[in-house]
Amino acid sequence: MSPMAQILLPGPRPFAPRVSAFSRPFWSGLARGELLTTRCRACGALGFPPRNLCRGCWGRELDWVPLQPRGRLYSFTRVHVAPEAFRAEVPYAIGLVDLDEGVRLMCRLVGEVTPADLDQPMEMLVLVHDDGLLFGARKASPG
Ligand SMILES: [Zn+2]
Repeated sequence: MSPMAQILLPGPRPFAPRVSAFSRPFWSGLARGELLTTRCRACGALGFPPRNLCRGCWGRELDWVPLQPRGRLYSFTRVHVAPEAFRAEVPYAIGLVDLDEGVRLMCRLVGEVTPADLDQPMEMLVLVHDDGLLFGARKASPG
């Protein structure tokens, strides 16, 4: 699995996520260009965001696994009126991406997206801010 592309975004993250002892592997993975989540040892269910409890069978034994950072755009919206922390960034797009492995996640979309992009291939990205990392997605380059 090749690492996700990195996109440099100047300035700090508008709303920096809290890194906990539980979520630290996710952020370490992102720094390596990997999108990690948790998979249930009992039933094999993948979910996103990572959890320490399986949403399928309530199993408590989960392993960190890398996801293929590719999928399709399920839906998106363009935000024009944002919460205070994101106000400097409007307008921006937020999308639901269905990864190839069946995981649906929500993230910032980078670059132009239109309704013609629905169900089209997307690639996940590492967004590199001055103060740390986030993840996002953009239209997959053809080929
Ligand atoms: Zn399970």
